[in-house]
Amino acid sequence: APEEASKPGILGRLMGRGGESADLRRVLDDDMLESLEELLIQSDMGVDTALRVSANIAEGRMGKKLSVTEIKGLLAGEIARIMEPVAKPLPLYATKPQVVLVVGVNGSGKTTTIGKLASQFRAAGKKVVIAAGDTFRAAAVEQLQVWGDRAGVPVLTAPEGSDPASLAYDAMTKAQEDGADLLMIDTAGRLQNRQDLMEELAKIVRVIRKKDPDAPHNTLLVLDATTGQNAVTQVEVFRKISDVSGLVMTKLDGTARGGVLVSLADKFGLPIHAIGVGEQIDDLAPFDPEEFAAALTG
Ligand code: GDP
Repeated sequence: APEEASKPGILGRLMGRGGESADLRRVLDDDMLESLEELLIQSDMGVDTALRVSANIAEGRMGKKLSVTEIKGLLAGEIARIMEPVAKPLPLYATKPQVVLVVGVNGSGKTTTIGKLASQFRAAGKKVVIAAGDTFRAAAVEQLQVWGDRAGVPVLTAPEGSDPASLAYDAMTKAQEDGADLLMIDTAGRLQNRQDLMEELAKIVRVIRKKDPDAPHNTLLVLDATTGQNAVTQVEVFRKISDVSGLVMTKLDGTARGGVLVSLADKFGLPIHAIGVGEQIDDLAPFDPEEFAAALTG
């Protein structure tokens, strides 16, 4: 419901009407536990994670009086504990170029994220090259060029409809010749034909390995945090068709509270390398589990 979406956290309704008051105490009984489970499920945490988090909070506390503040504290602690192991910046290797394959469905924020990352690495003194591997979407290539210009990073393109693997191979050659630190390769996000996409990604990997057997060094899956549990499905699909090594969660600046991140961390344990917090070039932040847990519990 829309009025729920505008609430700051997921605990607002737990204590019934007037439950926003921080010092109101209620006995932790089965009813309240069930409400807690329901709230966590509604926050996109996923059923399994929601039930386990609730059980951990209830353990040794049934029949005791708890205030909203206490429950928030317990919940934030549980969430932070799940999230801490996955909060890891993108590892940087001495290998030149470090090849980062960027995958994700169209609209997830791949282009924007590549632009933001390029800008950050460039600011850190790294030489970056981008390959516009979604050769079937002219608009995507154009958009990536705009981001490349903003970041001050060259974007390699190929004619519309040409083979992305061939572009990736050329980009590898150029990145090696130029002594680039980082090569980021954008890829298509058409999941409608999964088999096609899988073959396309496999071919890209095959040809860049002719230049460096360890490439790609990272495969970043970009996920839109506002899609809720759909993000879980996307991880499952992309793990089948590529070798996902880490995640970037976008659009965490909006009304989305990101409960799905807890579900993802709990289920897959994939590192969250960064989060998107807006549409501008500097709107990419490291993932901070404590801050996230506090924001989620409200
Ligand atoms: P792609 O199709 O995966 O390459 O997605 P784009 O990078 O083109 O992003 C799709 C839309 O999401 C664009 O309108 C972006 O401005 C927007 N977007 C991307 N990342 C973020 C973010 O972190 N926050 C917000 N609010 N919007 C974002």
